[in-house]
Amino acid sequence: MADSKYSMEDIVSLCKRRGFVYPGSEIYGGEAGLYDFGPYGVELLNNIKKAWWKANVQLKPNYVGLDSAMFKNPKVWDASGHTSGFSDPLAECKNCNARIRVDKELEKVGVTADEKMSEDELNKLFDENRDKIKCPNCGKKDFSNVKAFNLLVKSNLGDFTDTGERPVYLPGEACQGIYLNFKNITDTTRMQVPFGVAQIGKAFRNEISPRNFLFRTRELEQMDTQLFIRPNENKENYEKAKEDRWKWYLSLGVKEENLRWKQHENLVFYCKEAWDIEYNFPTWGFDEIEGIHDRTDYDLSQHQKFSGTDLTYTDPRVGDKYIPWVVETSAGTGRVFLAVLSDAYVEEEVNGEKRTVLKFKEELAPIKAVVSPLLRNKPELVEKAKEVFEKLSQDKMCEYDDNGNIGKRYRRADEIGVPKCITVDFQTLEDGTVTVRDRDTMEQVRVKIEEL
Ligand code: ATP
Repeated sequence: MADSKYSMEDIVSLCKRRGFVYPGSEIYGGEAGLYDFGPYGVELLNNIKKAWWKANVQLKPNYVGLDSAMFKNPKVWDASGHTSGFSDPLAECKNCNARIRVDKELEKVGVTADEKMSEDELNKLFDENRDKIKCPNCGKKDFSNVKAFNLLVKSNLGDFTDTGERPVYLPGEACQGIYLNFKNITDTTRMQVPFGVAQIGKAFRNEISPRNFLFRTRELEQMDTQLFIRPNENKENYEKAKEDRWKWYLSLGVKEENLRWKQHENLVFYCKEAWDIEYNFPTWGFDEIEGIHDRTDYDLSQHQKFSGTDLTYTDPRVGDKYIPWVVETSAGTGRVFLAVLSDAYVEEEVNGEKRTVLKFKEELAPIKAVVSPLLRNKPELVEKAKEVFEKLSQDKMCEYDDNGNIGKRYRRADEIGVPKCITVDFQTLEDGTVTVRDRDTMEQVRVKIEEL
């Protein structure tokens, strides 16, 4: 993270205190793995999504956007392999009934469980290492056998039988809608392979042990691109996607030393290559924020097979027919949000006083400027400050604040990462200038209102 002096607890506490993130259903005692984004959180989240959309749709002539329905024909999840293979290995603590994710607990003691392992193989591996694994909840070492637990979340859309005869699923990943619309997009737009489709969408996973705040939640959101390419043209496109995604994090202001690559060792058969971008989170260190996958023609071939719809593409330039291959990038908005917040978090001492600052890049800051009158009991200053606020709010998210003294307003603004604080004082009434205080340097300059 930005600095190992800070812990995730500092970040969680700031998020709650200042209205970035609240525990889901809090007044009912909460609900595991769910969080609500508060007034500043939703602004930051939207700014991250806007920056992603700009980089992946607006600035790329061969990419288009999509927003597909979350619910889908249930066969989609058979084709994608989710109904049969989208599972995590689970064991239960016999003492406190806590459920553990066996692969993750094995990882902590330096043992890698292959994603392709059967239940029997996992049980064998678990048995060999049982003495090393403690229940994270009660510390005991007495566990049940390992069971593969499917992560898909079921629902009953359009099923009125009460028996769940035709279960439908909430999306286990956001990208499937892109494959389903490949044909629609080539039929209705001028897109020609190679072209990409970008989508931001919710996904739901019955995570066995949601943990680490926004890092592992049961409801999540993914920012996905699927690049459709000619067969065997994967290598160069894959490298390009990797480079592109790395640069995006730098463009958000994330410090490069807090990012690293991790290659997947155990690949599913259709995947030629998979790398994760990891961020150095406070408290638990480097962990995945985005995956970049070289997926061959698996996705479209599966959907062609299960749907019976011909998804072969006739290349207008060469005239040959093929099922396009796919290079995928997939980042979780919650994990990127947490990385951006952790990276921006700083505690500093100024004139013997502590200040907490979120040093966001301006593009990401939830509030771009706070406008205040020097004194709240001077109607002429209040009126002028409100005028300035109204003017600036036309273009940017700003706040009007006349609570407490100026020093306190600055601290409050620093804590939510406001780049500029603007104060209207008596001189404003004379010459139309205001003071503008910079969040990072804390310097103040006088600027004409028209030049703000
Ligand atoms: P993990 O190994 O951590 O479970 P994954 O490899 O299953 O993640 P993908 O299926 O590749 O993740 O999903 C792409 C991205 O979606 C991840 O890089 C992550 O940012 C995000 N993501 C996945 N699962 C979760 C989750 N439970 N909570 C929050 N974000 C998630």
